[in-house]
Amino acid sequence: MEGDKMTFRSHILLGVIAGYSLSYMPNIVPYSEAEIFSMLGIVALGAVAPDVDEPNSYIGKKLPIFSHFVSGLFGHRGFTHFLLFPILLLLGGIYFFPSYKEYIYAFCFGVFMHQVGDMLTKSGIPSYFFPFSYGPLKHKAVLLPYPLRLKTGGKVEMFIVLPLLFACLMFMLWGKYGSIITTQIGRI
Ligand SMILES: [Zn+2]
Repeated sequence: MEGDKMTFRSHILLGVIAGYSLSYMPNIVPYSEAEIFSMLGIVALGAVAPDVDEPNSYIGKKLPIFSHFVSGLFGHRGFTHFLLFPILLLLGGIYFFPSYKEYIYAFCFGVFMHQVGDMLTKSGIPSYFFPFSYGPLKHKAVLLPYPLRLKTGGKVEMFIVLPLLFACLMFMLWGKYGSIITTQIGRI
């Protein structure tokens, strides 16, 4: 399956950008800057977590024993890549750890954004809507027509997608903090 999975860097960037863009909606996300940044760290963690089912992935190499266990149990792009996974995590997390619900939201959001990222790749996510696998739901979940989908871990991701995502993040940060930075520089 080498060459059809997004690298962990793209997953992190995509998750953080999506999470950060939510912070532009203060009515939905009523958190302070400091809270938003600590939550983005959790989003990043969630954004790499689903590939624990692939022992050769970044997170799989960090947790080899757990990774072999999960991949043996579910296979790659199995359960941790189904829509059911973040939903169950969210419900279970909030039920058992209600005082950490912000962090649980953030982690599950990261997981979901990982799945969105994988849907942009050539192989998509088979059985995404498990256990509902009939009619149109039985096809693999993809977000783009085949020619536009990424052959990830490849040159397009390395030289186009990753720099674009990075530029996007810088642009957003500049939009929010650029004026502060320039006034600070002006004072020097
Ligand atoms: Zn994945």
